[in-house]
Amino acid sequence: MKVHLKALGCRLNQSEVDSLARQFLAHGHSLTDAPAEADLMVVNTCAVTQEAVRSSRQSIHRLHRANPQARIAVTGCYAHLAPESVRRMAGVAHVVDNYAKEALLSIVTGEPLAAVQPFDLEPLARQALIGAGGRTRAFLKVQDGCDRHCTFCITRVARGKGRSRPIADVVAEAQMLSAHGYQELVLTGVHLGSYGHDLGQPEALVHLLRALLQETSVPRLRLSSLEPWDLPRALFALWEDRRLCRHLHLPLQSGCDATLRRMARRTTQAAFRALIAEVRAIMPDAAIATDVIVGFPGESDKEFAISYAFIEEMDFAALHVFRYSPREGTPAARMPHQVPEAVKRARAEKLLALSQQCSRRFAERFIGQKRPVLWEAISGATEHGFINNGYTDNFLRVRCVVPHVLSNLLTDVQLEALAEDGALLGALEAAQLAQIDTSTR
Ligand code: SF4
Repeated sequence: MKVHLKALGCRLNQSEVDSLARQFLAHGHSLTDAPAEADLMVVNTCAVTQEAVRSSRQSIHRLHRANPQARIAVTGCYAHLAPESVRRMAGVAHVVDNYAKEALLSIVTGEPLAAVQPFDLEPLARQALIGAGGRTRAFLKVQDGCDRHCTFCITRVARGKGRSRPIADVVAEAQMLSAHGYQELVLTGVHLGSYGHDLGQPEALVHLLRALLQETSVPRLRLSSLEPWDLPRALFALWEDRRLCRHLHLPLQSGCDATLRRMARRTTQAAFRALIAEVRAIMPDAAIATDVIVGFPGESDKEFAISYAFIEEMDFAALHVFRYSPREGTPAARMPHQVPEAVKRARAEKLLALSQQCSRRFAERFIGQKRPVLWEAISGATEHGFINNGYTDNFLRVRCVVPHVLSNLLTDVQLEALAEDGALLGALEAAQLAQIDTSTR
């Protein structure tokens, strides 16, 4: 069969679609980017907000219109939460919930699952999914589900209890991805920081990272979102190893203790402030980013002002700002004092303006320094060469113009200036350019 795969939402969904891709290839099927060519189309949906549900439905409609003959298999959080609504949609032949997702191939083909072998990745490489123009980093699922009960969160409802993949499995997959040219692996999960808790091993995240550093040669390991509590004591000491990217995403959600209590978040201003101080003591050049929800039920102007002041004090490298979206089935959706949309919009605009200032201020700190950059896509060319784009280990966006396509190369870059759009302009040393020149001839 020709299979078209689509991931919506989070990095975890993307990593699951990557695994499905490898499985379909291991079974002798092929992948296509063109829905019109597909016999089967698989959609890994998202339901984190009402908007995410709307775009999941829209994607399914669009695929069916593009190819009414093909079967559609829908999985992911929206399929898990509303299977009957999905089943009634035109073209949908299979609805697979999050618990059965890993067996999706067997469910839709009837074939018993075959183990994925390293050579199974050949077609992936051939399809330029790795390197030039393709992706240079792979998302590596290490954990699923969550045992917490944040009152706004539907993810824990859709993904179930916390469960960790065995370290040996994760290391084996990392070795396979590294052997196929991925320069960076991003560890993903629903509640990554709770890795190992279900196994009675609260320090397991440290053991996992150590195993990945010792048993793989991948140049870069990056962590996706880490809830800011219950983190193993020895975790941050691991960052002595420069292969661990100096980039932490620690969702705060609100900077006001009263709001945090209504959200049932296991952090406070004081605890979060102490965590950030601990991180900055070990890695002062780390990019610390966060998520913030504005307009949570009961968030008064005073609470928002407290939250804003705390966020400003924390001086993040980047803010991801979300307007609170009531999700049926969550306690917060039933709370009184829901905030009007206009107020949410105004608060979001204020925080987005702050985020821009913070990101520029963070980037300016590194002008004049040299940082390692993993080059990704080309965004054009000038008479001086190709416009290469990439990210530093501490997630600074960098651009440079050289007469080579640098995709999937890791090079040191002299950071020279900050462009209007927030990217840093960089230069490669002549010796490095000469080396690339020789290796590409
Ligand atoms: S810790 Fe994260 S995934 Fe778990 S309930 Fe809270 S927001 Fe949801």
